[in-house]
Amino acid sequence: MRAPIRTTEPLLRRNFLRGRPGDPVRRREFLETLGCGALGLGLLGGAALPGRLPAGSAPGSSEFAGWLWIGRRPEKTAAEWRALFSRLGQAGFRGVLVGGQFDAPIADAAHAAGLEYHRWMWILNRPGDTWARENHPEWYAVSRAGDSTIEAPPYVEYYRWVCPTREPVRQHLRQLIGEAAREPAVDGIHLDYIRYCDVILPRGLWKKYGLVQNRELPQFDFCYCPSCRGQFKDRTGRDPAELPDPPADAEWIRFRWDAVTRVVTELAEVSRGAGKAISAAVFATPTLARRLVRQAWDEWPVDRVFPMMYHPAYDEGVPWIGESIREGVEALRGSGTELNAGLYLSALDPPVLAEAIRMARVEEACGFSLFDLNALTDERLEAVENTLWEIRATDRGLSEHHRQAGVRRHLLAG
Ligand SMILES: [Zn+2]
Repeated sequence: MRAPIRTTEPLLRRNFLRGRPGDPVRRREFLETLGCGALGLGLLGGAALPGRLPAGSAPGSSEFAGWLWIGRRPEKTAAEWRALFSRLGQAGFRGVLVGGQFDAPIADAAHAAGLEYHRWMWILNRPGDTWARENHPEWYAVSRAGDSTIEAPPYVEYYRWVCPTREPVRQHLRQLIGEAAREPAVDGIHLDYIRYCDVILPRGLWKKYGLVQNRELPQFDFCYCPSCRGQFKDRTGRDPAELPDPPADAEWIRFRWDAVTRVVTELAEVSRGAGKAISAAVFATPTLARRLVRQAWDEWPVDRVFPMMYHPAYDEGVPWIGESIREGVEALRGSGTELNAGLYLSALDPPVLAEAIRMARVEEACGFSLFDLNALTDERLEAVENTLWEIRATDRGLSEHHRQAGVRRHLLAG
């Protein structure tokens, strides 16, 4: 894993990005910019100054780069996948996060273009797990109102959540992840729905569901199954179902953050045990993620997080994306976990998309991920490519500047 070194002077780097590479820079600041490896590659690898972008971003590279979620896969031939991925590689993408079953032709096409292929998998919300539904109805999470998601899914039909505190549930998940990670053509596992059901929806969605959620409502508050109640009572002597004010109980809140973190920790061990990377799609910021879905993701032992900074869901604009990245990067400082900003493509026209990507770089994300392929028009892809080229050219120019400054200093010192 990369050395967890990040700058503490973002303002300085903002000046760099505005094209002032001649500014004096101290060595400490240079070293601190190595967080995502962008400058480090130029220095340590002795890379030449850029002309055009190299084709793709080789696996293992940690240049500022793009990722793409591919959810509902469009019908494409192997040749069409190769053409698409070749285009993504040229534009500066690093990898694809692909939903659904493993698909060898898609994985091969990704690798031929120099892209990483990660399996995008739903973890605790498992609507498609018919085996679990038929054989283990007791695994499903129970609300404070007493309803199981197997019989009464909250919000939408596909919300069928399993309970993270049950060892057989975690064993089932470890097995699924182990099978996926052992496939040689899979470069990493990407966890999604690795959280509790939304106890509070993002504000921009309240109207859609006809709800006012300025407090935790019992029908959306999980999990009060016998396993959770028993384990919490063993630990604290108190039954969660009888707490006077469950949403305000610090131990009960922490119990559930830790329950999700434990699942992540176990799945990370399985994936890494197979030699594969592990990442997760998470809610926008550590604060929102804890409050809305009980994810303490800045405590997770993963290689990357992809916070979903889907601004329309929060009734927010693009500046909020930058603020969210800043909070996440700050929370992860020193952890070694990379942050890639998840962008909601269909709400970002090309110039605004370019602005959001620049913002990700300025706020020290390691890259960004686009949701999803179906909204990736030619115009958007062109905006991504131009912006990545601009950012990398700036990064490499800076790197060369620092390298020369370092050589001079060495000579003077000698
Ligand atoms: Zn439970």
